[in-house]
Parts: sequence; structure tokens; C-alpha cells
Amino acid sequence: ADQTYDVVVIGAGGAGFSAAIEAKKAGASVVILEKMPTVGGNTLISGGEMNAPNNWVQRALGITGDSADLFYEDTMKGGDNLGTPKMVRILADNALASAEWLRDDIKVQFLPDHLFQFGGHSKQRALIPVGQTGAEMITKLKAKADTDKIVIKTNMKAETLLTNDQGKVTGVTATSSTGDKITFHANKGVVLATGGFGSNIEMRKKYNPEMDEKYMSTDSPGSTGDGIVMAEAVGAELTNMKYIQTYPVCNPVTGVISLVADSRFDGAILINQKGKRFVEELERRDVISKAILAQPGGYTYQLWNQKIADIGKTNEVHKDEYDQMIKQGVLYKAKTIEDAAKFFKIDVKTLKATIQKVNKYAKTGKDLDFHHRAGLKSLEKGPYYIQKAVPSVHHTMGGLVIDEKARVINEKGEIISGLYAAGEVTGVIHGTNRLGGNAIADIITFGRIAGQNVAAKN
Ligand code: ADP
Repeated sequence: ADQTYDVVVIGAGGAGFSAAIEAKKAGASVVILEKMPTVGGNTLISGGEMNAPNNWVQRALGITGDSADLFYEDTMKGGDNLGTPKMVRILADNALASAEWLRDDIKVQFLPDHLFQFGGHSKQRALIPVGQTGAEMITKLKAKADTDKIVIKTNMKAETLLTNDQGKVTGVTATSSTGDKITFHANKGVVLATGGFGSNIEMRKKYNPEMDEKYMSTDSPGSTGDGIVMAEAVGAELTNMKYIQTYPVCNPVTGVISLVADSRFDGAILINQKGKRFVEELERRDVISKAILAQPGGYTYQLWNQKIADIGKTNEVHKDEYDQMIKQGVLYKAKTIEDAAKFFKIDVKTLKATIQKVNKYAKTGKDLDFHHRAGLKSLEKGPYYIQKAVPSVHHTMGGLVIDEKARVINEKGEIISGLYAAGEVTGVIHGTNRLGGNAIADIITFGRIAGQNVAAKN
């Protein structure tokens, strides 16, 4: 069967929804194809935090000195300068407008009085959606798409891009979960918003042999790199493919990202089996992950007290995860440090000495061991929380090359007519290492740009 729309968007995560909503606003008829039974992708299961320099919460909290320039520099540096400067510039200059769009047009609610400062950022600048997961965004984006009468086809896997004699992309073939073959024709163009390939072990190994079976993945099962493979078949250029990010603190049983462990951004420390700190807790994800793998057993413990827990309330906000980890025996609430040490068979004396040092550094404001950039917090008073964690594959930085209009570029450096891409499927923003809170800023910003441009085209 054949169906025709102006714009075909592939993938119903944050990038796909943003593209679809903008294309529709510009007057195009739009369909979103999603291979999974439900929408949301990785965006849904992420923490949902979004960096925006100079945002309204910074103003409310009296945080000064942030700017698009500073955000640009942090992002470039965080990726070892392998992001494409003019593309990172677009991200830095538009992240705030993207956040305001989510707030004003999509009605996403952000916490009015709390921000995260993720590793590698020189300011607290990550807005936090209510519920502190991507669910708030996906729920509201889906509601907006429904209001706008955007057609969403779930259980519909896009497979092969169609091109005409001139090499222009004119549509895509797809197969539904019941086996129906459908060709979706696109009058104006196709937007690839299929996410990354963190759940595709073979593809991970193809580009980076180190990222093999030994790593679990935080990603949605839909993150299998389909968009990259589809675009490659029509000549698309790929970049930064070997850079695959692990998230440092994930569930050691399931590999799922730990959002309870977001207490790290409020002052939780990381220690090894011996009871010693071994890395700055706000370092880049790749640095922390590598440091964890170098510890005995290749895991870490994250430790914090009630006072820290009360700041971000991650135990309560992510209660399901909290309860599950308690049941699995990977998280323990301890009255005392001795108690915490005993539960995980950590040497009590060493752990106590570590905590004493942390308390001292908290008082003086100077972490003489690892230079904690936000300053350590006192762990004098219990109760305590101690959680076992491992790194797990989280984000694939590499992907398609796009230009400032989100048009996909081929191996000769030319525009592939009719083909656009946005989000984790692209590879031009994050270089070797994506900073926390930069994925949402990226997918919303370039999703919107893709949607606006694909619809503008005649
Ligand atoms: P981003 O953060 O870039 O928006 P997400 O992971 O949130 O990426 O969303 C990508 C979505 O694309 C997921 O919901 C995934 O299931 C979907 N997807 C991936 N490959 C295909 C495909 N071949 N056909 C349809 N949908 C796909």
C-alpha cells in the first residue's frame, strides 16, 4: 500500500516530535513512523534535563555570568573539540529559545527553583522537567502532536529510503509489526530522527571494538542505528562513529541508568571497594567511567546522606527505582557509616577516614584530593545511602553529518536533497563525549530546525 504526506518523520523521540510539530506549523501534512509499540525512545527514559544558558531559573536563583559563549566553550571542550564549531554554535545560540519553546508552546513544566550542573559545565544551567525524567516532555510533545493532528504510526519500522533519478529522497518503505508493507511518499522530504545505536552490540563493535558485550546499555531497545544504516545506503557521510559514551552510574544488575544517583549532582561521593574516593564526582562521564572500570571489580559505590538527599529528593522522585534497588540489594539505607561499610563489606576504617576528609574539605571549601568543582558537602550526619553502580553504554556521539539547516550531507560534501536529520542519529555536535543535559538541548534545537526547513522546501 502507498501513502503520501508532505513530510515523513522517522522516529518518535524528542527530535522526531519537534521536527513534526514545526513542519506541521509551517503548513505541511506530517506522519511520524515509530517502530516500537509506544512513542518516546531514549528521550522518554532519560532524566530529561536540558541545558540552556541564561535561563529563567538561573535568574530566579541569582546565578550570574552564564552565556551562550560559555556554553559553547564547555560543549566544544567537553567533546575534545571534535564537534563541528558552526553546529555547536547553533546549539549554544538556540538552546534557550528551544527551552522557552518547550515551556511556552509545548507546555512542558520545569522545576522553578532547581538546576543541575552536569559534569563539564562551568555553570548550573540544566533545567529539570517535573518528575525529573523525559516523560514530561514526551507526554506534552505527544499531546501537542495529537492536537495538531499529526499522524503517528507506531509499530511501523522504516526500512529503506527511496530516491528518484536525481538522487533526491522521496520517501521510505516500512513494515508494520503485523507484516504489512507500506510505502510512505514524501512530497517535501524525510526527517531521520531514529536516535543512536547503543542497543546494537554488533554495530557498537563495528565502530569501537572496546564497546562489546561486557557493557550493558541504558538505551531503549529501539536504539539500533537504523537511520544511520538507511542514510549510508543513499551515500550519507558518517562522522565520530567510534565515540560511544558510557554513563558512569547504572544499575549493576540491569544496566539501566540510575536517576536516584542524580544525588551525585547535589554532593554524593564515589568510593571504591576499599572505601576510597578515586575521581572527581563531577568529572566528564568518560573520565568517571574509565576510573570506575579501573577500580577493583570494575564498579563503584555512590554514597550520600539525608541532607544531600533532601536537596534533589531523588529517592522520592524516583521511588520505583529506589524500591527496586533496595530489593536487588544494590542500594542500602544505613544509620551509620559503619553500617554502610558492613553492608557492602568495605573496610570500615578506610571508609571512615575518607568521610572525615570529605567533611574537612567541605568546611574549608577545598577538596585537596580531587578538586570537586562544586565543593564537597559535609557527610557528618546520617542516615546514609550507599549504592553499587557500574558504567553502561548510554549515548553514541557519532552519526550523520548535517548542515545548519539539518540537511544530510553525503560523502562528497554535497546536500542529499530531500533528506534531513536531527538528534542522536547525527554526529556533529558532541565530539568525543556528550555532556550531561546536552542531548535534550540538541534534539529539540535541531529537531525544530529540521522541521522548519523540510516544510519550507518546495
Ligand atoms: P532522539 O533523542 O534523537 O530524539 P530517541 O531515542 O529519543 O532519539 O528516539 C528515536 C526513536 O526512533 C525511538 O523511539 C526509536 O524506537 C525510533 N526508531 C528507530 N529506528 C526506527 C525505524 N527504523 N523506524 C521507525 N522508528 C525507529
